[in-house]
Amino acid sequence: MYDVIFIGNPVETPSLEKRQVEPEKITSCKGRIGDFSLRYRENGKVKEVKTRAIVVNLPHQQEESVPELPVFSEALESDRENTLIFIQDNEEIASAFINGIGLKKALQAARDNPSRQVYYFYRSLRFTEGTDQLYEEARRAGVAFFRYEQGKFEINPPNKVSYTRGGATMDVEGKIYTAPLLKPSLELEKLARVLRIIPNEEGYLQAENVYLAPTLTGRRGVYAVGGARSPNGLAGFEDEIKFTLEEIEAIKNNLQPLVEDDREVDDRKCILCYTCFRVCPHAALEENKEQDAMEVLKDACWGCNACISHCPAGAISIADEQEEKGSGLQVFMCENSAATARKKMPQEDLEGFITREIPCACSIKKEDIYASLQDPEDRILILGCFEESCKHLEGDQRGQRIVDEVNETLASLELGEDKVRFERLSPPMEQDLANLLDRWREGQL
Ligand code: SF4
Ligand code: SF4
Repeated sequence: MYDVIFIGNPVETPSLEKRQVEPEKITSCKGRIGDFSLRYRENGKVKEVKTRAIVVNLPHQQEESVPELPVFSEALESDRENTLIFIQDNEEIASAFINGIGLKKALQAARDNPSRQVYYFYRSLRFTEGTDQLYEEARRAGVAFFRYEQGKFEINPPNKVSYTRGGATMDVEGKIYTAPLLKPSLELEKLARVLRIIPNEEGYLQAENVYLAPTLTGRRGVYAVGGARSPNGLAGFEDEIKFTLEEIEAIKNNLQPLVEDDREVDDRKCILCYTCFRVCPHAALEENKEQDAMEVLKDACWGCNACISHCPAGAISIADEQEEKGSGLQVFMCENSAATARKKMPQEDLEGFITREIPCACSIKKEDIYASLQDPEDRILILGCFEESCKHLEGDQRGQRIVDEVNETLASLELGEDKVRFERLSPPMEQDLANLLDRWREGQL
């Protein structure tokens, strides 16, 4: 088990055991924070590796924002006397944040040659981690900052800009550098699908407010940094990494669930339709092959309840709100027949019975029947549909078969005869249901 797997470029992690996997090789990612299983292809084979956390670290795609003009990341003009002009937020490239790479370059240019004139044009002065300090240093080093409005600023390549403010226009000539047009890495879209992370509108993996949770994604334990995270440039990269590694250290030492009350899947009701798997925004549901049903991965769950509201079988609930399992005379009713009939019966006719709704008689599991037979007096009546109206393939026959097998086993163990009974009903048969319950209570069935 690794502490962290880097998808893309790894970084130094002195106290965490790490490895790296190329993004294009990854085929699936199962599990949850603290226990992910990542599958990848290598030399024609599929391999699997375990890790507590995953960090996606891919570079941005960078394009020139103004054709023919160099971008911030290019080397500074060697002519030390040149006036330099840095422009960020031009046209649609604007991230709302001051660009750290541009700031660093402008600061370096001003420090390299204090007599050089350095201009910095921007539309927004919002800061990300660390850029406010860079801004102060650049001002002190003599960089001239100008805030411009769209439509009142013209770039005339290769070396002129026109800036209008309050009716006055200023023309500046010099070597121009523009903020690059940053786009999410090419691999990110496919990677998001494989990792089951919903990308934001711009195609980045970052899901939460950048001020509060810089590198979190919608899938707990998967972090996005650099070009996987946002269009905010690379200046905050060290902070992104620092935050992320601290988070991973914390979960390594003390992983706590995000929500107190667990969401649970009732495996008797789950029909494995995968609706919850698709709607969960946090990849917190997976199939449990042993249970033949979905399972909520508790440490991954954010408690949004999207799964509960979308599950067509009503199989997911909040643990404390589940109906109590009882003992005595228990009636399991198919929701397509007996459960409908029950709703039309006077409630007093149901007194003394513990009722439970099931999606189909065939969905009942033997182990649940045994678990519900705790006391010698316990008996169970399972009510399914008639064969011609069963919505599932031969649900009534399978229900009958399960009941027969349970009774056989109980008899062979000398635990009682006919403790479980199977009957068929249809939705309008509320009177028949009342009679059936009466006769069963009296032992006349
Ligand atoms: S939506 Fe409900 S029935 Fe469908 S797989 Fe999920 S838990 Fe099972
Ligand atoms: S409540 Fe359901 S949908 Fe929401 S995070 Fe948890 S498992 Fe996913």
